[in-house]
Parts: sequence; structure tokens; C-alpha cells
Amino acid sequence: MDFQNTYLKDVMAQVASKNADQPEFIQAVEEVLKSLEPIVDLHPEYAKAGLIERMVEPERQIMFRVPWVDDNGQVHVNRGFRVQFNSAIGPFKGGLRFHPSVNLGIIKFLGFEQTFKNSLTSLPMGGGKGGCDFDPKGKSDNEVMRFCQSFMTELYKHIGPNTDIPAGDIGVGGREIGYMFGQYKRIRTAFENGVLTGKGLTYGGSLARTQATGYGLCYFTEEMLKANKSSFKGKTVVISGSGNVAIYATEKATEYGGKVVALSDSNGYIYDENGVDLAIIKDLKEVKRARLSEYVNLVPTAKYFAGKGIWTIKCDIALPCATQNELNGDDARTLLANGCFCVAEGANMPSTPEAIDAFIAAKILFGPAKAANAGGVATSGLEMSQNSLRLSWTFEEVDEKLFNIMKNIFWACSNAASEVGMDGNYAAGANIAGFKKVAEAMMAQGVI
Ligand code: NDP
Repeated sequence: MDFQNTYLKDVMAQVASKNADQPEFIQAVEEVLKSLEPIVDLHPEYAKAGLIERMVEPERQIMFRVPWVDDNGQVHVNRGFRVQFNSAIGPFKGGLRFHPSVNLGIIKFLGFEQTFKNSLTSLPMGGGKGGCDFDPKGKSDNEVMRFCQSFMTELYKHIGPNTDIPAGDIGVGGREIGYMFGQYKRIRTAFENGVLTGKGLTYGGSLARTQATGYGLCYFTEEMLKANKSSFKGKTVVISGSGNVAIYATEKATEYGGKVVALSDSNGYIYDENGVDLAIIKDLKEVKRARLSEYVNLVPTAKYFAGKGIWTIKCDIALPCATQNELNGDDARTLLANGCFCVAEGANMPSTPEAIDAFIAAKILFGPAKAANAGGVATSGLEMSQNSLRLSWTFEEVDEKLFNIMKNIFWACSNAASEVGMDGNYAAGANIAGFKKVAEAMMAQGVI
């Protein structure tokens, strides 16, 4: 990628050489730095203050051994991570991911993105991320519990309600947060429920947190559509993934009058031309923890296809909600050729740089992850507020706050893009709007 600004070009070269074995991290940094050129051009003082060099280096990275015992008495060892990326505007905040693909580079890319995303929410949260290369698939509840307890036995030393507040992500839902909270409470001998978000409702969780990322994605998307004289109503929608984000994006897109015809998992995808039956999906995924392929046994008119390929389905709106780099340049061209005019990212960095370039060049509506999926962490922020106040808000109260936050995020991106003459480039707008607040706070706090 070509940089005109020599300061940014030098920083990017350093990042690439220092982190050569972390392609996802390099990709995330490059995408952000590229769109900051108009702002950094206006602020030569950033170079002297080493601002961007500090922003691309995590404040702290923790890696640790996670030993645990399976149901047969066999010992396993996984590698745990917590990357505390940036605390300029608030305590570190970001999810934990349990998936075999987890490594330091992936956690760093997620933590870096999280810093700007959290800034966009307008709530006082810094950026962090963590996880483990543990695979919860196929494990018994007891195995998951023992693993979570071992993970927290190290992690608790580094987190706290005013220090670092983890939450869920891929492979970490209510069950895992519950086991981790239990272990934290036991070790600390204190009921500090502000230490984790995504908790169960009986011990400090927030109503609407489960729905928040998927709903928030649709609130953002509907606002983007409305600003461009369109809406979900009557549109065909394809959503990848079938986890937490995908399920609640399906629910809200359907409520808005869209028809969601496809969902996927890491093995394949289902196509249901009548619109997927969400009650069946929820039962399969949330209750039975079954594979998505089972859907066609319950809805015989639907079809299941093994492998990738969900982006070949004709749609108006595509919402990638599975994982990073799941939508490449070829997929983007296929979507565009099939008439797709709106893509909004529920997952983190699901579109490759080539795919993003194709969307921007085609001038379709593109909602970037750090803005479009910020509803999850925003509602985590609301959960923290309720914990501090020792109060619980109703579903409607939380949902309304989430709706307003997502609407404001859309307009922050739109306005920031317009200010640098890039009307409609919400990806650049999100980076610029998220960056400004963090930059200002870091400049004010001196060289730390
Ligand atoms: P879940 O674990 O609930 O679901 C993940 C879904 O994505 C599953 O359907 C899974 O399929 C699929 N998936 C995971 N890895 C891959 C892969 N390598 N290839 C293809 N499919 C894959 O996670 P979430 O729904 O919580 O997270 C989905 C995305 O949204 C992630 O990028 C996450 O970082 C992002 N996100 C989540 C937030 C949240 O609040 N949960 C907040 C903001 C962003 P399978 O079951 O086969 O693994």
C-alpha cells in the first residue's frame, strides 16, 4: 500500500518489519494508518511526539500457560493471551476469544481495532483483547469449566473493574463468562462484577447484551441505508456465521422487513429461499450446540452446501458475521456482480483489503467493522455503568441507548469522511473519528 505521508510510511515499515509473523496485525494497522493521512498531514506535532509509534505498540502483552484436565484425566496445555493495547480514554476493554486459530498476532489485531471502536462508542473505554487457542467444540461442560477456571487463575492478576474488563467473543458466551466470573470471585474473595461483561442476568449482566452486537449492526446498517434513501424492507439479506452476532443480526434484519436467506458455519452454509426460521436456528445453535447442517433435516425445503461459497448467493445486503478475512476480492466481485449494494461488517475485519477496495471503488454502502459491530462493546459499557450504579435497566432502556449510540456512530463516520472530502467513505470516516479522541487524550497525557 502506498503512503504519501512519510511519517506514516516510516511507521508502517517499522510495524511490518517488527511484526513480520503477524499478518493480521499488519493488515489492521495498514488499513487504519492509510486513512489517517489527511489528519496526520495537518498535525506535524504527532511525529515529534511519536504518537503513531506509541499507538501501534500495545501497552502490555501477557502470554501464559493454561493447563487443564479432560474428563479422562488427561492433561492438556493451551496458550493464553491478554493484550492491553491502549488505556488513553479508559480502562482496557475487549473480548476473549477461544478458538484453535488464536495466536498473538490475531489478538493484537483485535486489540488494535478495539481501541478505535471503543472510542467511537463515545463511552470511556480503552482497547484490549485476549483469548486462548483452546477449542470449546466437542468439550463437555465440566471440561469447559475446568479450562475456564485455569485460564482465570492466571488472568485475574491482570484485570479488574478499573484496570481491564474482558468480555466474550468467538467461543466465549454466557457459559464461559459465568465459569470465569465464579473463579475470579473465589480467588479475589470479592464480588466485583464490574470485572467482566456479558454476565448472566442473576449476577450483574445487562439485558440486551446478548442481542447487542447483532442488533447494533442492523441499527447502524438501517441508518446508513436511510441516509442513502433505502432500508432493509423488502431486501434479500445474506449473513455469514451462525453464532451470537449472526443470530441477532438475523432477528433484527427480519424485524426491519429484510429476508435472511442464508447463514453459515466453518463447515458450510444453508440456503432457505423462504427466509431462515430463526426459532430453529436458535434451538440448534444456542440450546443444542449442534452443527448448522442439521437445519435441513428440520426444514426440508432448505439446502445445505459444504464449504465456503455463501457469497455466491444473490442478495441486496451482505452482513459478514463469522470471522476475519472470510470475504475476499473474488467474493466481493461476485457480490457486486449479483447486485449487492450494501455490506456491513458484524465480524472483526471480515473483508480482505482487496474486498474493501472493490466495495469502495463500486461506491456501494460499506459499513466497516469497528463502527458497525460496536454495539456489543457499547452495551458492555452500559453493563459496566449499571454495575457501578448497582442498578439494572430494563431491556427497552438498554436497547434505546444502544440504538442511539449506533445512530451517532454512523453520523460520526459520515461527518468525519465528509470533513476530509471523502463523502460516503465510512471506512475512512470510522478510522478518523475513532482516532481523533484517542490521539487527543494521548497528547494530553504526555509521553507514556
Ligand atoms: P460465535 O462463537 O458465537 O460464532 C462464530 C461463528 O462464526 C460460528 O458460526 C462459527 O462457526 C463461525 N466461524 C468462526 N470461525 C470461523 C472460521 N475460521 N471460518 C468460518 N466460520 C467461522 O462468535 P460471535 O458471533 O460472538 O463472533 C463472530 C464475529 O463477530 C467475530 O469476528 C467476533 O470478533 C465479532 N464480534 C463479536 C462481538 C460479540 O459481542 N460477540 C462483538 C463485536 C464483534 P463454527 O461454529 O463452525 O466455528
